[in-house]
Amino acid sequence: MAYRAEYIWIDGTEPTAEVRSKTKVLADGDDPGIWGFDGSSTNQATGDNSDVVLEPVFQCPDPIRGGDNILVLCETLLTADMSPHPTNTRAGARAAMDQYGSQEPWFGLEQEYTMLDPATGWPAGFPAGGFPAPQGPYYCGVGAVKIRGRDLVEQHTTWCIEAGLAISGTNAEVMPGQWEFQIGPVDTVTVGDHLWMARYLLYRAGELSGLEISIEAKPMKGDWNGAGMHTNFSTNAMRENYDAVETAAQALGAAGKPEEHLAGYGVGIEERLTGEHETQRFDQFSYGVSDRGASVRIPWQVARDGKGYIEDRRPNANADPYVVAALLTNTCCAALA
Ligand code: ADP
Ligand code: MN
Ligand code: MN
Ligand code: MN
Repeated sequence: MAYRAEYIWIDGTEPTAEVRSKTKVLADGDDPGIWGFDGSSTNQATGDNSDVVLEPVFQCPDPIRGGDNILVLCETLLTADMSPHPTNTRAGARAAMDQYGSQEPWFGLEQEYTMLDPATGWPAGFPAGGFPAPQGPYYCGVGAVKIRGRDLVEQHTTWCIEAGLAISGTNAEVMPGQWEFQIGPVDTVTVGDHLWMARYLLYRAGELSGLEISIEAKPMKGDWNGAGMHTNFSTNAMRENYDAVETAAQALGAAGKPEEHLAGYGVGIEERLTGEHETQRFDQFSYGVSDRGASVRIPWQVARDGKGYIEDRRPNANADPYVVAALLTNTCCAALA
């Protein structure tokens, strides 16, 4: 019987790229191949030269349709010479992996997001036009007063597991209507593949629940936590000895590096990295054991065990995981080489 392949790609929306998808019906036995789309409708081409190529790079079972149906994540290529489109950030993650793959870089991403009422744009759990009780009881909270959207979270997690994605956990966050899921630990390219696929499934779960998913970094101004994408990182050397852990943390503070990294860590980073709400200021760099007010945290159990990983707390929820993973791989692996 014919089956469906949902082709998924990352568009050229500024300043934050978005996910797009369309369906191809395939005859039984046919494989999904190269396809294309109208780049003039996704900010990826002009109308007079509109075709952009879709090259399948990662596929998994489609947990929404079930059966033989699949999800197909694609890279975007230029028709002229089949080279990566300028908006194709996965190419940069591949290059980092080609250069430093022997160090076995691993990533665990903590994707925070906010559920919004599509009619008002107000977070789920916020009374219409008003504010809930201050932050405190919501993080990992339980109960109808504190929690909104758990059905959506459970649907999303089930789909990620059925798709075979490396989802490693979920939790309710500090601000009402804000949640997190984690992907990892997997390598520099895979973490982006799985995270973008998980984002796609999250938006789809939102369609079912009638809630819009936002990865904006500071959806509510004022005394409410922003949404980040804490990035946990290790190499084979860091997983063996503490000197390597410190070398990686220090490399991120070397001259010019904080600016280079922040430029790739998502739009609106100055609004989120204020020095309040468990962040370090965007214009300061620090690292420390157990310190959630540092740019880079070394988890306490890593200091105790004398090996493990670092947590870069700076990336925004709206960052591109391919860009973040490439930056960390290039900076830390160069220092550890
Ligand atoms: P937090 O305490 O900051 O909320 P989480 O439990 O949400 O931490 O996320 C930790 C992430 O770190 C998980 O995705 C996990 O898979 C990942 N992780 C664990 N060990 C490593 C490692 N050695 N290298 C990279 N990532 C790791
Ligand atoms: Mn977390
Ligand atoms: Mn969190
Ligand atoms: Mn964290």
